[in-house]
Amino acid sequence: MNAYDSIRMQDLLDPFGYTSTEEIEQADMVIINTCHIREKASEKMYSELGRIKKIKDTRKKQNSNPMVIAVAGCVAQAEGDEIFKRAPYVDIIVGPQSYHTLPELLAKISRKEKHLIELDFVEEAKFDLLPSAVSKQGYSAFVSIQEGCDKFCTFCVVPYTRGAEFSRNMEQVYREVLAAVSGGAKEIYLLGQNVNAYHGKRETGENCSLADLIKYIAKIPKLERIRYITSHPIDMLDDLIELHGSEQKLMPFLHLPVQSGSNKILKAMNRKHTREYYIEIIDRLRAKRPDIVFSSDFIVGFPSETDEDFADTLDLVKRINYGQCYSFKYSPRPGTPAAVKEQVPENIKNDRLSILQQELGKQQFEFNMSCIGKNMEVLFTSEGKLNNQIVGKTPYMQSVHILNPSKDLLGSILNVKITKASMSSLSGELV
Ligand code: SAH
Ligand code: SF4
Repeated sequence: MNAYDSIRMQDLLDPFGYTSTEEIEQADMVIINTCHIREKASEKMYSELGRIKKIKDTRKKQNSNPMVIAVAGCVAQAEGDEIFKRAPYVDIIVGPQSYHTLPELLAKISRKEKHLIELDFVEEAKFDLLPSAVSKQGYSAFVSIQEGCDKFCTFCVVPYTRGAEFSRNMEQVYREVLAAVSGGAKEIYLLGQNVNAYHGKRETGENCSLADLIKYIAKIPKLERIRYITSHPIDMLDDLIELHGSEQKLMPFLHLPVQSGSNKILKAMNRKHTREYYIEIIDRLRAKRPDIVFSSDFIVGFPSETDEDFADTLDLVKRINYGQCYSFKYSPRPGTPAAVKEQVPENIKNDRLSILQQELGKQQFEFNMSCIGKNMEVLFTSEGKLNNQIVGKTPYMQSVHILNPSKDLLGSILNVKITKASMSSLSGELV
């Protein structure tokens, strides 16, 4: 979502003469687009700000244009003007639902106004005021369709920083997908903090589900792959599960976070589903699309998690058998209910994380190894690190490298025979 928002900020500033640069010393403006989901992210922001301040000071000494520093994203939303106190050289603070005001804020800065802050939640206004097309996304493009969350898991800051759940209307999404596809995109990622809770309006005023939206955009002939992220198990409704069995453009890979395998912990997390319900959803999806591969997010060391609860998580992991996963130590977030509970000691969190990651790593490696000798369809999207190498993705989200002198293959979906596998990627030869 932040990657998408960053592109939108670039598009927004483009008409005002801003272009992006890889050289921070050259930048008249620096925007740090932040994430607040775990604690490390905001600490990283402050250390990055310290580094940028030095560059701002050097430019000042050289009498270059003064550098404008903006902090955007969820740390901006959560910490507000505290950021000005800790980093007074920051000029603009703008939240994830109000970054469409950046041009206006920049105009004020040029009139010598100081320390501007804009943290309103007016989702509709944001999407109405952003440029209609999203540029520079290449063969695989993000389109945000839903933002915010009303679920209030007890560990999570999202409902506070991104605000209430909001879905963009169907036609607006369709037009953005169409623009991305006209710009060369073969694959679309529909994005949302709770993407499968999507319920945008059709032109007739009726509600449209995520499954309806996917069916609608799948009609765009040049669009070949559709993915959606991130889903909540409770919103995996029948029409979406059905669609995995019938819509060939919908990729057979689903990120479906479970967080924990213990019913006691799921309840304490306010996840609104049990481990049995989660397994049932996975089984139903596998029945519709037997080759579907799953990924998940896990939190270890949530307050009150015992060895038995953690064993339940490991047991669930073994039961599901994932293709790839993300796992985190519980990080108390200010203002969330779980943050004030008695905490699990750090050394226990570390031990559990390493045991879990070993098991998840094993599953990922075994899945990748099982692909050796198979022919897989790969969408090539970028050049690799090595000379003559191009990189793409299988339907199951694995990265594949091939050696090929022709960069013309970028943007194509080609059959690749997989010859080698590691934990993180595959390599092969064109068939
Ligand atoms: N909406 C998605 C997840 C969004 S946040 C869902 O409901 O599953 C992305 C991931 O960050 C979460 O799945 C969770 O695993 C992790 N996360 C969120 N808050 C966290 C916290 N306080 N500590 C550790 N991990 C956290
Ligand atoms: Fe956070 Fe996801 Fe829970 Fe919403 S559903 S509160 S985004 S973890």
